[in-house]
Order: sequence, then C-alpha cells, then structure tokens
Amino acid sequence: MDKVPDLAIVVAAAGRGSRAGGTIPKQYKNLAGRPLLAHTLGALMRAAPGATILPVIHSDDLDLYQSSAASFEASAGLAQPVFGGTTRQASVRLGLEALAGQLSKPNIVLIHDAARLFISDTLVNQAVAAARTNGAAVPGVRLAETIKEIDADGNVAATLPRTRLRAVQTPQAFRFDLILNAHRSAAAKGILELTDDAAVAEWAGHRVHVFAGEDSNMKVTTSKDLAIAEARLLGDLADIRTGQGYDVHAFGPGAHVWLGGLKIAHDHGLIGHSDADVLTHAITDALLGALADGDIGSHFPPSDPKWRGAASSIFLAAAAAKVRSRGGVIAHIDATLVCERPKMRPHRDAIRASIARIAEIPLDRVAIKATTSEGLGFTGREEGIASLAVATIRLPL
Ligand code: MG
Repeated sequence: MDKVPDLAIVVAAAGRGSRAGGTIPKQYKNLAGRPLLAHTLGALMRAAPGATILPVIHSDDLDLYQSSAASFEASAGLAQPVFGGTTRQASVRLGLEALAGQLSKPNIVLIHDAARLFISDTLVNQAVAAARTNGAAVPGVRLAETIKEIDADGNVAATLPRTRLRAVQTPQAFRFDLILNAHRSAAAKGILELTDDAAVAEWAGHRVHVFAGEDSNMKVTTSKDLAIAEARLLGDLADIRTGQGYDVHAFGPGAHVWLGGLKIAHDHGLIGHSDADVLTHAITDALLGALADGDIGSHFPPSDPKWRGAASSIFLAAAAAKVRSRGGVIAHIDATLVCERPKMRPHRDAIRASIARIAEIPLDRVAIKATTSEGLGFTGREEGIASLAVATIRLPL
C-alpha cells in the first residue's frame, strides 16, 4: 500500500458467512468460475480505477484470499489485505487504521460488503459524490413490504410508515477523518457491535445522508442467494463458444512422456520444442480457438528459445487466464488421447485432476478420455501420440 489516492475502498470480507452453509466462508465460494470476493473486487476496480482497494479478511482465510486475488494485476489498486477483528465494526476500524497509517491518507473512503458483488459503477460514483457533499452518506432502497414492529409475544406493536423507511446497503461513504474518528471514539467507549458504519457515524453525532440505492445491489447471505447470484452471473455470460484443438508429437528416445502436465514413465519420449505435452497443447489450442485468438504457435512461437523445453502447463494456464481476463469462464474441457501405449487407464484420473488444476476450474468440468486406433495409422504403429480437445467457454455478451 504505497500510494493512497484521494479515494480508498475498504472491503469488509472477514465474516464467517455461517448463514450460507458449507465449510468455507461464502465470500470464497466459487460462483460462475470465480470466488464471490473476486467478483466484488473486480467490480470495484472497474468502477473506481485509481482508488486503493483494501480488503479486510479473517486471519484464517489468507490462503483462500490469495487464490481469490491471484488473477488481479499488481497495478490494479488492490492493497495487501489486513486482518479483521471479532466484529464487523472492529474489522472496518482496523482497515481504516491501516489507511490512517499511510503517509498520504485518502479524503474519501467507501466501506463495502464483500457479499455485494453486483455493485455498479453508477452507485460507486454516487456514493463518492454524496460523501464529498454530505460527509456521511449511505445508499437506501424503498421497501416493498409493510414493516411491523412486534412485541415480546409476537403481536404487532406498531405499523411503521413505509414511505419513510429505507433498507440500507453498501457502499457507505464518508469523509475519511469523520468515519475514522467516529470508529475510534466508539471503540474507546466500548461500543463494539454496531452493524453498519452509518450507525457508527450516527452514534458519533453525525448527520448521515441517504441517497438512492439499487435493488440490483443484492447482498449474498444464504445458500439460496448464492444460487441466485450464480444464475445472474451466468446469464451475463451468454456468449457461449466452442473451440477445438488437435496435436501430434512423434516418439523418440527417452524414458518418459509428459501428458496433461504429468510425467509418465514410458520406453520412449515425445519429440518437441517444448516438453511435447500433446494433450496440453490440444487443450490450449481449443481454448484459444474458442477465444478466436490465434493458436499455441502464435502465442508461444517455437522459434523463440524461451520456450525450449518449457513446461506446457504454462501455455494452458496462460490460455485459461486469457478467458478470465475477458471476463469469461471455462464451462467445459473434453479431450481424447490416441495411442496404443503407454496405457492411459492408470493415469487418467491424475491427468484429469492436473488439467483442472492448471486451468483453475472444477474437476467436474474436465473430461479426459483415451483410445487406441486398433493398430491402424501412425498412432497404431506407435510412431507418436495424437490428441483432440474441445473447450466450451462463456464470455460476456
Ligand atoms: Mg504440440
């Protein structure tokens, strides 16, 4: 966190997300190919280029966080995360203190929930403008339902006037010194459980302006919300494309072959400029074909000495990263190896897992098959191995 510009965004991501179920916190659950948090961070980076984005995470989640953030460029404004505290309020305060510890402090800070991944550019801009004008501002939406206050017996005690009620969202936006001092005062007075930052500002005596939020700015809380959010993400990835790849490498002297990024013992090797991983090459070409973005030779030319003996996992990882950098996901990879030997059955599951790992997609989206060619042709004569692959990707329309 070298340079903190005028605007910083604290992303509250330290929660345990227990209402969504499962073994990992909801902000790290995979939604349409990426962790929920990666969607949120990506949306904030697009909405506020140049802002410092500071995630506050749980100390148990560092590995999960690092894999969520791995795809972002170091220059994208994403700061090293800080560890949160025992309540949301404490976590946000620790994020604000990290910003306060910098040489140059932001003028405006937005505080955003990791679980609101559909944050729009418009709402971010409105929040910043509202904070500049009002000092403290939060987005609020009108309620569809009538709200009743109930008594201890579960009976209606009051019907609240709906026109003056708002359901408040994030990002909540503040002048930095205002909210930092409010958080410090509240913590010093033992006020620790306020559930949003507006409440901290209110407690400190500030007037908090409410501007129009967006109904689309949903907060993912339950497992049903996760399903709704994923369907919405996939609905936005409606440019569905298929690419095919084909590759052959000839046998030569050697004691192993590379297939799907794994070293497999054999009485020959495969000849090639790189490691001659025929399966990985075919899959890489299938992905590049689906992107309509050249082929493996155009991205990693054999004439370039840099690729001599290279691990082909680099090529596949790069093609998969290209899909993600276009905002897309790999829906499926299906590949077939054609050879008489080595026998593939003992290695097939490990190869499948390896491809899934390299492409960073779930195992159930990878199929690896093998066949002989019944002794016919160059593969039948054991002169080499052939591989065919098909990849389906989904891109934003
Ligand atoms: Mg090749």
